[in-house]
Amino acid sequence: MISQLALLLMLLSPPADSADVLIRGGLVYDGSGGPPRRVDIGIRGERISFLGDARQAGLVAGRTIDASGLIVSPGFIDPHTHSYEGLPNLSEQRRKNIGALMQGVTTVVTGADGRGPLEVARVLGEAERLGLGTNTYALTGFGSARVKVLGNSSAPASAAQIDTMRALIAQAMKEGAFGVGSGLFYAPQSYASTEEVIAVIMGAKPYGGVYDTHQRDESSYTIGLLNSVREAIRIGRETGLTTNLGHVKALGVDVWGYADSVLALMREERARGHLVVADQYPWTASGTGLGSSLLPRWSQAGGRDSFLLRVADPATREKILAEMRDNLRRRGGDSTLLLTGGALAGKTLKQIAAERGTPAVETALELIKTGGDLGVASFNMNEQDIETFMKDPYVMTSSDGSPGHPRLYGTYPRKIRRYVLDKPVIPMERMVRASAGQVAEVYGILERGLLKQGNYADVIVFDPKTIREMATYLKPEELSVGMRWVFVNGKAAVEAGAPTGALAGKALRKR
Ligand SMILES: [Zn+2]
Repeated sequence: MISQLALLLMLLSPPADSADVLIRGGLVYDGSGGPPRRVDIGIRGERISFLGDARQAGLVAGRTIDASGLIVSPGFIDPHTHSYEGLPNLSEQRRKNIGALMQGVTTVVTGADGRGPLEVARVLGEAERLGLGTNTYALTGFGSARVKVLGNSSAPASAAQIDTMRALIAQAMKEGAFGVGSGLFYAPQSYASTEEVIAVIMGAKPYGGVYDTHQRDESSYTIGLLNSVREAIRIGRETGLTTNLGHVKALGVDVWGYADSVLALMREERARGHLVVADQYPWTASGTGLGSSLLPRWSQAGGRDSFLLRVADPATREKILAEMRDNLRRRGGDSTLLLTGGALAGKTLKQIAAERGTPAVETALELIKTGGDLGVASFNMNEQDIETFMKDPYVMTSSDGSPGHPRLYGTYPRKIRRYVLDKPVIPMERMVRASAGQVAEVYGILERGLLKQGNYADVIVFDPKTIREMATYLKPEELSVGMRWVFVNGKAAVEAGAPTGALAGKALRKR
């Protein structure tokens, strides 16, 4: 005999075979890299509650989405983006992260290029309280620690300074960071020796995780691309972290064709038991600053005031210009640098120099003097290297999204349209694994990245007939099209192709 109370409880709690949302009839790529299956997916609360044949199971759903003709996959996880840089001090619009959601991205990193937070608990806690459109996980930053302790100094760190930096990194890891980032290409991080970087990042060793780097040289600026890869591998190996080469590329004519050699170095190291991976964006232009791309690093030591003093000295100015000339050649010349911010957006350095009647490097130096490190798109990669990297099973997808470059709004749909559907460089199952399951696995992001019963319901539904990026170098902020439904922790963030403005993201802590 059932008591009245038990009967009441049965009526109040939903039966086991019910879901809030049922995504029916889609072609499902589950993120593991395996072949697609035609299965229905049920979401209950924050989690994936069902995978299978809904009719056969008699599943009752509050709402059913007809996904026939559409692709269903786990939400993408972007391991290199600047979209949440500055958390928690971002506008609600930025925190909504609609540009990412419209690409199917449901989780983004905070802290690329070594500029990640040191106070991880505070930043994540405040961001979560304010609300986020996408989930986020943090990498703490070697650069943040160095700037805090040494400012913009080019001096080597003392033993005491190294101890302080190491403690900052350890504390950030303890607070839930998934690893440590560096940007050794950029001043002032560029002034740190390999030994200094290793000694500082040792603070992360007890916690494990990923050493993610915008490496010292993606070209032929200083130590050269291959030595730079060797350095990144060594830093990861000695600190016990997985090495990730952020936005891997062969930058500039001097190293075009080196993609296979980079991949070979990675493969050899993996064969010795140390995991080395990379992430990549599918664009031939990188996005950086005019100063970062052209100035010799010694000219930036001590920060902007010191730089301006050097430029004011005629002999030093000549030396700077000579090195800038070589750096411009390395990147492909004045027609390959496109200004992306401010009043000059949309013009190449060549056009600006012609308008002003001054040589290209002098024009650039003048712009840097008056405008700081203006944003540029730098067309310096070739299609061949991009495809070679993309085909490697250890190269994941990332956007490196930053304002002014279309990659912030278009990376994932572009890769699907251009490299999976139009010219099949990689199959869709690889695309989905490289953009979801593998990223979760490498970073230790639990219960996400795979469509699996019990996992968090970060689920996307897109139309392979229409998916594409709309953002261009001249109009970089156009939303992508073709993403039909995006669920973040079970809540609809994109509904029938339109963003809902939901703030359903969570701040993730490493467990
Ligand atoms: Zn970078």
